[in-house]
Amino acid sequence: MIKFKNLKYLLIMILIVNQCTKKDADPINQKTFEVNKSEMEWKKILSPEEFDVLRNHGTERPFTGSLNNNKEKGVYTCSACGNPLFSSDTKFESGTGWPSFYKPVDENKVGETIDKSWGMTRVEVHCNRCGGHLGHVFEDGPKPTGLRYCINSVSLKFKKSVK
Ligand SMILES: [Zn+2]
Repeated sequence: MIKFKNLKYLLIMILIVNQCTKKDADPINQKTFEVNKSEMEWKKILSPEEFDVLRNHGTERPFTGSLNNNKEKGVYTCSACGNPLFSSDTKFESGTGWPSFYKPVDENKVGETIDKSWGMTRVEVHCNRCGGHLGHVFEDGPKPTGLRYCINSVSLKFKKSVK
């Protein structure tokens, strides 16, 4: 009988704790990232071009990015936090003037939000570690995914694979 009472008490405690954590973990439309810096802190470590794209959702001019024509084997990481995002194996020539990939190295590394700016509805993609804006994903990519991750060069850093 005493054991049963204890169990009941324990269950009530679990319910209360659950309720509290649920409330805390449900901010309205606001994601928290592992790498979390203030605007001032980002300005210190990013170039003006990087800051404009990564933190202000800017877009670099097409055919101007240093990685657009890069055909070397390696990994593309987030230029703000170093998170590995795309592999050269999934890079393809889209003709758009921006580095294009048909999938990320891992779906959990790239986050998506709906972007309704400029009178269009697009799917914005960002680094899931620091929240840095990368570009957009469209559904007109090549096989096997049919997706086209259209990414700004300044949002990426290239790490050549060593053989
Ligand atoms: Zn990042």
